[in-house]
Amino acid sequence: MSVQVSVYQSLLEWCSERNVILVAVSKTKPVSDIMALYELGHRDFGENYVQELVQKQEELPKDIRWHFIGHLQSNKVKYIAPFVHMIHGIDSIKLLQEVNKQATKVGRIIDCLLQMHIAQEETKFGLDMDELSNLLVQLNNFPFVRVRGLMGMASFTENQVQVKQEFTQLKKYFDQANASLVSYKLDTLSMGMSGDYSLAVEQGSTLVRIGSLLFGAR
Ligand SMILES: *Cc1c(COP(=O)(O)O)cnc(C)c1O
Repeated sequence: MSVQVSVYQSLLEWCSERNVILVAVSKTKPVSDIMALYELGHRDFGENYVQELVQKQEELPKDIRWHFIGHLQSNKVKYIAPFVHMIHGIDSIKLLQEVNKQATKVGRIIDCLLQMHIAQEETKFGLDMDELSNLLVQLNNFPFVRVRGLMGMASFTENQVQVKQEFTQLKKYFDQANASLVSYKLDTLSMGMSGDYSLAVEQGSTLVRIGSLLFGAR
């Protein structure tokens, strides 16, 4: 059994005390691992490959809230639009357009987060502040998308000072975005993984995405 039940219970308590949503990242893990947490009452799970997510969704209970946390290609949105609870990685207007189109088709309003580039590595996806502002003023064009907030991934480094700075930067983007919005406010800031979640919550995260700490190494 690879699910760390006692770790889960203390992490859940830690998150609840701070009003933080715990998303259990189950990518590459079998459905039996997901069911082990499901039976403890857990409902928020994160996946980052479309095909794997679709397959698991078919097999597992329908009240699971699936978070898509990976890099989403436009041509794959249609596969997850009928059921996905939240898409974390929106990083272009084109992708937002496609989510709106597929959401319209299935008659759902889909919650989305805009992914910001905060890490030093060039390979990590995401928007900068100008792109974010540009996107936020166009949201009226996408009535079937509800932008709930921002998501980001810190650099993969042991340097805690740097990671902290990156999370602080993301929180700044979040506050700036909220200051610019008149008719509604963003309420979700998705940052923090197994190695850096407490730092992320200190800096204002409202949702952490935890994989290896709960399910063991991948
Ligand atoms: C895999 C993944 C996680 C979880 O990572 P762990 O270090 O195993 O907790 C969180 N967020 C994203 C976007 C991921 O791809």
